[in-house]
Amino acid sequence: MGTEAEVIVVGSGPAGTAAVLDLVRAGHDVLWLDRLPGARPKPCAGGLTPKAAARLRADVSPVVRERTPVIRMSWRGYRASDFRGSDDVCLLTHRPELDDWHRGLACAAGAVITPVRRLLRLRQDTQGVSLTVLDERDTVCTWRARWLIAADGAHSPVRRLVLGQGAVPVAVALEGLLARDVCRRWPGMQFDFGEVAGGYGWLFPKGDHVNVGLYCWHPGVTLGQPQLLDYARRTLGSDALTDIQGYPIATHGDQLPLSAGRVLFAGDAAGLAEPLLGEGIYGALLSGQQAAAAVLNEDAASVYARQMARWRLELRHTRQITRLFYGTLPLAFGVLTHLLKSPLMEGAAAGLTLVQSKRRWLTAAAARASSPACSQTSGGRRD
Ligand SMILES: Cc1cc2nc3c(=O)[nH]c(=O)nc-3n(C[C@H](O)[C@H](O)[C@H](O)COP(=O)(O)OP(=O)(O)OC[C@H]3O[C@@H](n4cnc5c(N)ncnc54)[C@H](O)[C@@H]3O)c2cc1C
Repeated sequence: MGTEAEVIVVGSGPAGTAAVLDLVRAGHDVLWLDRLPGARPKPCAGGLTPKAAARLRADVSPVVRERTPVIRMSWRGYRASDFRGSDDVCLLTHRPELDDWHRGLACAAGAVITPVRRLLRLRQDTQGVSLTVLDERDTVCTWRARWLIAADGAHSPVRRLVLGQGAVPVAVALEGLLARDVCRRWPGMQFDFGEVAGGYGWLFPKGDHVNVGLYCWHPGVTLGQPQLLDYARRTLGSDALTDIQGYPIATHGDQLPLSAGRVLFAGDAAGLAEPLLGEGIYGALLSGQQAAAAVLNEDAASVYARQMARWRLELRHTRQITRLFYGTLPLAFGVLTHLLKSPLMEGAAAGLTLVQSKRRWLTAAAARASSPACSQTSGGRRD
């Protein structure tokens, strides 16, 4: 048994769905594969920054449970400070609802998800890719296409088939859900840096529950359930968490190949989450859309590499910032609170990346320093 398509997309998370949606809307023939329905939902706190929301092809409001212009940040619960933007800095969604809504857009445009049990083999030649899978009826079948977009997450089975290794994830996050009626208090969105070494704890309120989690950007660290329960008890007065799940987040995309022959990697399969906070939905949407645009060209791999260059550079810069930030806590938290709070939140509210926010702040500071008014002020005069 076999079939053909122009493009095969593996994965229906943010990256795969973004790719399929653009391809199908442009009239292309796509074979879209994911695991059988009923697999556990992807662990994810569902926080959408304005830059991520802006990449979605429709207004995400129907699945936004809460939105907030302010995040309470602390160092291990001390020196808590409200970080406020002039507009929303995060839209809080429940990830299964976000995925259903996003896939619904692609399906409404004509896409169909074909469930598979297992990916078995991938072969390439100069004309295309052949992917052999075990389908939902336990039948082995082979599909062929000119290009394959691997958007199959941090463990990336496609990457294993093609390169012999997964995305070698370096960050990890562990989360659980706490029902509203057992919370001692109803929190705002909150980050507690230093809650775990090299990371932070988070509280994301979502109407009927709070998503409680721990993130660590260090390679090889294991986050334990007792740490998560203890954090929930201290912050919300209860450890009655349900749906506790951990998962790696692949954050080193600047060091990984973006493609191998006719296979383009997108989202976590390409390591495109940013390491400071583990935000991965933006990189997934961006790369899914860029991969979809690239496969319309015969030199898709080089087009894709060019289109993703800026984000991969951002990941490299952000990793340096991340190392510095977590390596110098709590001092770094003081600097963040006193010096960087406003530019970061204004940048986030305006849909900028971390590096763009930093650049905008430095440019404004340089302009202020070189303006005549400023020279006069530094000369002793106050206007
Ligand atoms: C606990 C936690 C909390 C997080 N919170 C946030 C957050 O609030 N905001 C944010 O921006 N990011 C967050 N992230 C990161 C974010 O979840 C990921 O970066 C993002 O989901 C990556 O999207 P993706 O489409 O690349 O991969 P995924 O979302 O992992 O999707 C991969 C898809 O591939 C499919 N697949 C996997 N294997 C196979 C196979 N063998 N055959 C067929 N299909 C397969 C899966 O079923 C899935 O549909 C969090 C991560 C974790 C672990």
